[in-house]
Amino acid sequence: MNIKGLADRLDALSIPEPTTGCHLWLGAIDAAGYGKVWLDGRTVHAPRASWMAHRGPIPSGLIICHRCDNPPCINPDHLFVGTHKDNAADRTRKGRFARCGQAGEINPAAVLSKETVIAIFTAEGGTMEISRRFGVPPSSVSGIRLGQRWRSVTSEAPA
Ligand SMILES: [Zn+2]
Repeated sequence: MNIKGLADRLDALSIPEPTTGCHLWLGAIDAAGYGKVWLDGRTVHAPRASWMAHRGPIPSGLIICHRCDNPPCINPDHLFVGTHKDNAADRTRKGRFARCGQAGEINPAAVLSKETVIAIFTAEGGTMEISRRFGVPPSSVSGIRLGQRWRSVTSEAPA
């Protein structure tokens, strides 16, 4: 596996978000909002790929979790290696679904109505301001505004 090339590819496909320090993935995403990248003939979650590129191999059976709870984020400093049990504990502590990329997760963005998504997409102001105004996590606001979430809705909205 060409790890050096992988790090460059990941850098080219993400941008730093100054407020949170997250590195937001701009490439393809899966249904749950996780970046995905083609690696050695298969699709790998971008956060996993980022961990492998910057930190090394992930022991089998372990998953990559987000300290920042922001699925599009691939900043290795925001990631940690955990077990499914850790994920469950993290989820309980945070009182909601932590996001570690397993199938069948609840996507918090799904609680937003189509109207709210469009309002966020077209709102004036910065991410934090809009986050407060709509009571939506900043990660969701930036995801919507970057077209990484709810693209099916926002692509129809007036730009
Ligand atoms: Zn992050």
